[in-house]
Order: sequence, then structure tokens, then C-alpha cells
Amino acid sequence: MEFADLKTQYTVLRSTIDAHIARVLEHGHYIMGPEVVQLERQLAEYTGAAHCITAASGTEALLMSLMALDVGPGDEVITTPFSFIATAEVIVLAGARPVFADVEPDSGNISVDRIAERITPRTRAIIPVSLYGQCADMDAINALADQHDLAVIEDAAQSFGATYGGRRSGNLSQLACTSFFPSKPLGCYGDGGAIFTSDDRLAASLRAIRVHGAEERYVHARIGVGGRMDTLQCAIVLAKLPSFDWELAQRRRAAARYAYWLKDNIPVMALREGRTSAYAQYTIISARRDALRARLEADGIPSAVHYPRPITQQPAYYQMDKDAHCPEALRLSRQVLSLPMGPYLSDTDIDRICTSVLAAEYDAMGATE
Ligand SMILES: *Cc1c(COP(=O)(O)O)cnc(C)c1O
Repeated sequence: MEFADLKTQYTVLRSTIDAHIARVLEHGHYIMGPEVVQLERQLAEYTGAAHCITAASGTEALLMSLMALDVGPGDEVITTPFSFIATAEVIVLAGARPVFADVEPDSGNISVDRIAERITPRTRAIIPVSLYGQCADMDAINALADQHDLAVIEDAAQSFGATYGGRRSGNLSQLACTSFFPSKPLGCYGDGGAIFTSDDRLAASLRAIRVHGAEERYVHARIGVGGRMDTLQCAIVLAKLPSFDWELAQRRRAAARYAYWLKDNIPVMALREGRTSAYAQYTIISARRDALRARLEADGIPSAVHYPRPITQQPAYYQMDKDAHCPEALRLSRQVLSLPMGPYLSDTDIDRICTSVLAAEYDAMGATE
């Protein structure tokens, strides 16, 4: 059993993927080739955003978004401490200061009340993360941002395909960034990412920032980066896109089966009314997490911890936000456990995983009583 099974997907889609790769090798436009434009058009259409700008990675997409907003020294950006490090890293790289707002205890997503407490005259933007595939409370975050004239960038690296009030992740705020890292719900075979916006001016800035700030060749009106996603990776995402909705449905099938076995016995991450998750991860919460994990390992079942430390407790970030108070993120970092997830995870495997989880939970309960 694999934690995220990419091999089966390749076996199933092999002829399409190989044909897409071969086409790029034949036309030879490895950088900014026709597949880049095609993918941007299809992804924009999928999310409903007016523009899609592909990027070298999800991290680069986030950094370029902050650059397009001219976020820099003296500015503060509010984000969650319970995310992959890239979310906070880009704020520092842009020259601004990350300010952390604690998360909701049952969903792991950033708390709107905690964001409100941390807004200052220096705040310029909010970066909510759609954790494990479920969007944060984007309507409330957008309303709060409007009141204080702040930008909102959805870190949708884990949530491509998710919905919120019937609208797609990626089209819920001024800017959104996703990642095509191989193990994300929609992955390529290397690094890749994309930015979504319906703001024409931001889209134009982003297209320039992506090629070293050039609006025309060798004329650099602003500072940019080398932020392009290459044609081959775009071709691979294009090959996978037609099966993506089927895969999402399969992830939801797997999640429903997990919930059926587990939810009366162990807290699973809460899914809010009116939202659907892309299930980048299926994550449970247990005070006996480490014992549980050891039992799964002994039974040959892979698991993972996203994330074992809040960003506020990472050595490079200790000093950046001394006023951060994030007890919920700290508790979750000690209690969360992600189980195998993917469109090809079989019902039999899920049943075996759940049997092991429940047995471990009862054993550990006995041991502590
Ligand atoms: C994966 C991920 C990123 C970074 O994406 P890359 O494509 O690996 O650079 C950023 N934020 C979150 C929440 C992620 O899960």
C-alpha cells in the first residue's frame, strides 16, 4: 500500500500522457510552448477565474502574487501557522513580516476571529490556506479584508477542485495560487503551479514578473523572477485534466468510507456545510497519535504528519512574530495523522486501514487508563 499512489494513475493514463509528452518533444517549444497557453485557458475555465498564469511551482506562484501586490519591507501579511513552510517563507522573501493567526480546532483552517485580532495599520494582505483540500471561510475573510482594504491570496496548493458555496477554489478571492507538485490532487511530474485572478492589471503584472519583469523582450520595467512552468509539465497536467473530476469523485468516495468507519470513534477533520474538499489528505485527530502511527507502521500501513510543528515553532521563524499565540495549531501539530488517500485507494485497503486505526486506538486507550 502506498501513501499516495501515483503509479496506478500513470498506468491508467499512460497512452494519453505519453502522447502529450511526445508532442512537446516533437514541436520543441520547451519554454512557453502552446501547451502552456492551452493549460492556462482550461484551468481558468475550470475555476471560473478570468486569468490563469502558470508558475514554476506553488511557492513561486505565491511569491509572484506578493510581488504583484507590491508587498515589501514595512508590511505585514497575516497567515496560518499550520501549513507547509512555503506559505510563510514567501512573505519573508518578499521583505514583509509574517503575522500568525491561530486555526480552528476542528478544521485546522485559519480562524477569522483570530485574523481580526491581528490586523494593524501595517497589514497589507491575508493568506488563508485551504488545508488538506478544504477552503477556509473565504466569504468572511474577504469581508474582513474589504473593511481594512487588504488583499487576499488563497493558498490553494492543496485544494484545486474544491468548492465553497458552489464556487471553485482558485476563484474565491483577489488572487489564488495552486501547486502541481506530484502528490497534490492535480499533479505534474516535477514542479509546477498556477496563479488565478480576475483582475486584469494584476494578471498583466504577473505575466511580466514571471519573465524577470519584462513586458517586452529585454525591457525590464520592474523586478521579476524566473517563474515559468515548462511546456512538458503543462502537457502532463493537460493529459490528466479530463480524468480529474472522476478522480475527485473517487477521493470523496474514499473519504466517505473512512468517515463511515471512523467518525463515531475518532475525530476526523471537520468539513463545513456548503464546502467540498479536494481531499489532498484524509486526516484524523488523536491524542494518542504516536502510538497509533507505530501500530499502523507495524501493520504495513503508511501514514504522515502534516505538520509536526507550527511555523511559529520553526527555528528560522522564532523571532519573526513574538506576539503570536497559537495553542490550537500547537495541539493539532501533536495530534494530526494523515492516512493513505487517492483516487485509486481500494475499499478493501480502506477497511484494512480503519481496522488497524480502531484497534490501535482501543489498545492505546487501554494502556493509558
Ligand atoms: C505544496 C504546498 C505549497 C508549495 O507548493 P510547491 O509547488 O511545492 O512549491 C505551498 N503551500 C501549501 C499549503 C502546500 O501544500
